[in-house]
Formats: sequence, C-alpha cells, structure tokens
Amino acid sequence: MRKTKQREVILKVLGEHRDHPSADIIYEEVRKFLPRISLGTVYRNLEIMSEAGTIMKLETGGSIKRFDPFPDPHPHFRCIKCGAIEDLPFKIDDSLFTGNTEEWAHGRAVQNLNIEYTGLCIKCNGNSTS
Ligand SMILES: [Zn+2]
Ligand SMILES: [Zn+2]
Repeated sequence: MRKTKQREVILKVLGEHRDHPSADIIYEEVRKFLPRISLGTVYRNLEIMSEAGTIMKLETGGSIKRFDPFPDPHPHFRCIKCGAIEDLPFKIDDSLFTGNTEEWAHGRAVQNLNIEYTGLCIKCNGNSTS
C-alpha cells in the first residue's frame, strides 16, 4: 500500500479517537489539515486501509460504518441507546482467532473475529436509572 499524505493525516486523526468514529467524523477533522479533501476520498482511503489491515472497519449492527485504529481483533461494547462503541479492557484469547490455520477454515478466507457486547453504556445506564 502506498503511503500518501492523505492516508498519513487520516491515520493520525483516527489514532487520536478511542470512540470508533464514522467516516463523516474523520472527514470533518481531516479537513482541518487538508481543506480540499473530499468525503469520497476519505472514505476510499479508509476502505483501502481496512483491506490492507492497517486499520479495522467495524461491521456492527448499526448502519453507519465505524473505524478503529487497532486492526487486531479485540472486544467491543456497543450501546444500543446512543450508539457509542467502546473498547473493552481485555484481550481476545489467541486460540479463538487463529486465522486460516484451523481445520474448519480450509477453503475459507478468515479475515477477522468480531466480538461485540451490546447493552447500555455507563452514561446511558446512569441516565435511565436516575
Ligand atoms: Zn450510551
Ligand atoms: Zn476498538
């Protein structure tokens, strides 16, 4: 994958986010550094970097695609009320994600493992009980 100025900026912006932003949010911030960039260009670069394994595209229940600066499989918590996606503070056991080495994977091209817990985030849970 070619390293371009655009991708550098997109990576930097995404890397500063721990809340798994959408392409729109990334675009708004990238524009501060590259005023002439288009949303389509940001989106295309996010797709290319996801495919290259530099970042991760989250295929969650929500309709809006979200992006993650950490490409290694890790567990997420998605709030069903506000849509927040948080990283959970534990690792996915390596034995769960072995790529294509397992017998069951033969003939398949395994790319990612998606573990997503859903429920109410701390903020929404607090609001609903007070
Ligand atoms: Zn919430
Ligand atoms: Zn994450």
